[in-house]
Amino acid sequence: MITVMKFGGTSVGSAEAMQRVANIIINTKGDKVVVASAMSGITNFLVGVVDDPTRDIDEVVRQFAEKHLMAAEQMFDEKTMSEFKVEFNKRLESFKEALKSDPNDAYYKDLITSQGERFSTLMISFYLRKLGYKSEALTAETAGIAAIGLPLSGSADLVATANGMTMKVRPLLYKGIIPVITGFYGIKDGAPLTFGRGGSDYSAAVVANALDADMLEIWTDVDGFMTADPRIIKDAIKIEEMTFGEAAELAYFGAKVLHPRTIEPVRLKHIPLKVRNSFRPEEPGTLIHTLRKKGKGLLKSVATKNDLAIVTVSSAEIAYRPELVSMIIGKIAEENIIIYSISTSLSTIAMLISNDEVSTIIRRLNEFSGGIIERIDVKNNVSLVCCVGDDLLSKCGVTGDIFTAVKEAGVNVEMISEGASEVSLNFVVPMGMVMDVVAALHARYIG
Ligand code: ASP
Ligand code: MG
Repeated sequence: MITVMKFGGTSVGSAEAMQRVANIIINTKGDKVVVASAMSGITNFLVGVVDDPTRDIDEVVRQFAEKHLMAAEQMFDEKTMSEFKVEFNKRLESFKEALKSDPNDAYYKDLITSQGERFSTLMISFYLRKLGYKSEALTAETAGIAAIGLPLSGSADLVATANGMTMKVRPLLYKGIIPVITGFYGIKDGAPLTFGRGGSDYSAAVVANALDADMLEIWTDVDGFMTADPRIIKDAIKIEEMTFGEAAELAYFGAKVLHPRTIEPVRLKHIPLKVRNSFRPEEPGTLIHTLRKKGKGLLKSVATKNDLAIVTVSSAEIAYRPELVSMIIGKIAEENIIIYSISTSLSTIAMLISNDEVSTIIRRLNEFSGGIIERIDVKNNVSLVCCVGDDLLSKCGVTGDIFTAVKEAGVNVEMISEGASEVSLNFVVPMGMVMDVVAALHARYIG
């Protein structure tokens, strides 16, 4: 039985947090493979370093080392500390070298921002050793995590990673060694490529996929998926169980519990996933798997995504000109901008995107010449409401019920997406009204 256990930034954010994590690891039965994020605050610090080229390298390295060594000193006795420092200093040297490399390299930011994971994993591994367990700290390089894709938005090459890990990680398990592997990035052409912010969850799912694990546990700082954001809805409760599809929709559209890309690598191999709270290990968390246990209410959860905008492009008879639709989407794709929803009519195409991307999209769409595009309208500050439930599509009258509640809350619906997913109904409302909508739906249909 192989369990892949992933610990996020806050779960490894201090000496006490790492010690708590080590206890969780050693109390788990069977073979364990650990994947960890950088200590909380570290990746943000590194992003700040990249964004400010005037920073003094020695000072950056000093601050970075201090944060880790302070925690290490609380965790290790003298002997462990001196062994730890040998490895630590090697990694610090590589970090320094990385900082001195060409900042104009397309993958420079990946190289620098992925450094934190190399140090948190080293600390966890040494602490496990101090407790008397066999452990080895591995990086994406030494574990064989292969990546493909563009800077700052890589994906794992699942086949190459499975091959790499079978050779490099599996033998450690046979010897009773607990591997502790860096999250957040993989290796493309010999250099780090990150999986996007918060990407360690995805790394862990990739590792679980590569090793054909029996279980993936994502240890974070909340009890699991909730029926709504507890900051908005006081009586929101934890969801015990969900399908992969439901969890994927919720993670993608708002619930910040899990990186949305975590689901796919484990779903492919039917590996169950649990979201657990490292600060409350007695809590069973949320189990995500293929089994479908019917919930009691119409909906399982309502999530929201704020700070979005609807960009509507008008052009005569756009519906009869599929090549124009493809060109419009093509411009947006070139900028690597995520479109959360699309809706078309005879002469318009409306796209839901992040508020921050509006100016880029307008600039790119203005590149069309000769009046191909007649108008562009933007409605800023809208929110997407994502309602997730079992078989929403196949139940008669669900849409009517949901929109009745929205109407009774006095809120106007700006855009709708239904039918694309069997388990979710998504619609857009003005951002100022979104809390009322969630409250109305939660009160009526969840439970
Ligand atoms: N350390 C990375 C980040 O902060 C990856 C992660 O935490 O999952 O984005
Ligand atoms: Mg994180």
